[in-house]
Amino acid sequence: MIKVAIAGARGKMGQEAVHTVMKQENMELVAVLDYKEIGETLAQTGLFPTDYTAPVFTDLQALHTATKPEVLIDLTNPQSVYAHTKEALALGIRPVVGTTGFTDEQLAELTAFAEEKALGCIIAPNFAVGAILMMKFAKEAARFFPDVEIIEMHHDQKLDAPSGTGLKTAQMIQEVRQSKQQGHPNETETHAGARGANFDGMHIHSVRLPGLVAHQQVLFGGDGQLLTIRHDSFNRGSFMSGVAYCVEEVMKQKTVVYGLENLI
Ligand code: NAP
Repeated sequence: MIKVAIAGARGKMGQEAVHTVMKQENMELVAVLDYKEIGETLAQTGLFPTDYTAPVFTDLQALHTATKPEVLIDLTNPQSVYAHTKEALALGIRPVVGTTGFTDEQLAELTAFAEEKALGCIIAPNFAVGAILMMKFAKEAARFFPDVEIIEMHHDQKLDAPSGTGLKTAQMIQEVRQSKQQGHPNETETHAGARGANFDGMHIHSVRLPGLVAHQQVLFGGDGQLLTIRHDSFNRGSFMSGVAYCVEEVMKQKTVVYGLENLI
């Protein structure tokens, strides 16, 4: 049995993750981490069935002392996730992080820290297998089409932009694409932001609308042709097989794995 704790269990992703962990035969949900007083157990939050008796803590150290989790799933927000991940590693807990919004410096620091502690840590900007394939196919296409724009589309409650998946896609493309500025060298924006974020000369556009979940198109333009690679997550269930897989996989790792494409 893998002992699992979840941070962000009241959230949209967190609630799905609670049900997913509860369903796994080889996992035990031992606790949840919150920052608000929401009741002593998950059931007391009113969001879960009465037999969901995992205790709620507002302090990771206290949670660890009482319940000794082996894995912490973090589905919180960009402001909290770095501190949670670092503290988890310091306590000997392996993080599985779905929250997006890490800087390159934070990733480098966490990698050094995880290796020092010889602990696995999986940071997955996207848990959906279709999205991983979209990124892999985009990287392959970029070898032939260096002119690329990314349009990522999410629900309007998302806090960070561009999305972790959009950024990760750009980073994977950067590995094979010859660096260049796209568009006309003299182009100007008459309205700030019209061309989106500039990542190594590629542009990333972030759409935020109610009704959306998580969607992305990667557009490659060539002479007289356009290749579009698209993925849609229509509900948060699409992420959950990836979450369960990461909980098992993080037990085998001894460093930070950034992106599920490095594992599947
Ligand atoms: P959400 O519904 O806002 O859930 C976040 C939850 O975390 C909220 O209940 C929030 O409480 C709670 N929270 C905030 N700070 C906390 C802290 N310090 N400790 C414990 N809980 C805390 O957001 P969501 O849609 O579930 O998304 C969560 C994260 O997952 C986001 O970063 C999102 O981008 C990411 N995400 C990742 C994937 C993936 O495949 N990797 C897929 C979808 C989303 P309050 O609301 O009371 O502040």
